[in-house]
Amino acid sequence: MIMKKLLTGIENNFIDFLFPIKCVVCKKETGLKRKNKLICTDCLVNLSPSFNFYCPICEARTIDAKLCFSCNLMIGNTENKFYLDQLLYPFSYKDQSIQKIIKSFKYYFIKDLEAPISRLAINYLEKIKNQIDLNDLILIPAPLHKIKFNQRGYNQSELIAVRIAEYLNAEFTTDCLSKIKPTKDQANLKEDKRLENLKSAFLCVKPWLITGKRVLLVDDVYTTGATMSECARVLKEAGAKEIVGLVIARG
Ligand SMILES: [Zn+2]
Ligand SMILES: [Zn+2]
Repeated sequence: MIMKKLLTGIENNFIDFLFPIKCVVCKKETGLKRKNKLICTDCLVNLSPSFNFYCPICEARTIDAKLCFSCNLMIGNTENKFYLDQLLYPFSYKDQSIQKIIKSFKYYFIKDLEAPISRLAINYLEKIKNQIDLNDLILIPAPLHKIKFNQRGYNQSELIAVRIAEYLNAEFTTDCLSKIKPTKDQANLKEDKRLENLKSAFLCVKPWLITGKRVLLVDDVYTTGATMSECARVLKEAGAKEIVGLVIARG
């Protein structure tokens, strides 16, 4: 056991020597230990989280991260319902640094970013916990279709959600919400194609896990909200009481 640890240590130092890890944001060598050196201290300090709340649809400032008055009215008068009750996020996806961090995590397979990204989310929750009720939540990550999961090897939202659940001392499950249809990337689709793309994509497999509960639905990026709203619809129809969305950045 000790020998194995020692060897792993030597191995890691050797890998570090051959491939010094560079900060995913500024590309400078950080000179820190493996798992802690993916984002350098300067880049971490320069990130600027916001602790204000905005309407999930129009981005107007709100006091509780719920729909603003006019979006609420608008939704009441249209067929396209919106199922997400609240939306929480610390960063704007326009922030180039956070965009690089999320892309590295999601598309460049740098799985070890799960730790610093989760820490960013937890620091944010710590700051807002007096304004938003974070008690008695069950955490559910936005699911990936199994083809995507197998390609990437992990679900980035799940890795974050596990750590947040630990911090909140909350329940966590991946057994409840499933993605049963592969979908195209929402960002590349026009508005009217987005809802169609998501149609019948998600299924609540074990509704009894969420009956009457408040769900914290965790994803990495929120763009139009179509995906989150669709997941929220499926969970609510299965019996969830309320859906709070949490993402790292809003596009
Ligand atoms: Zn850096
Ligand atoms: Zn609004």
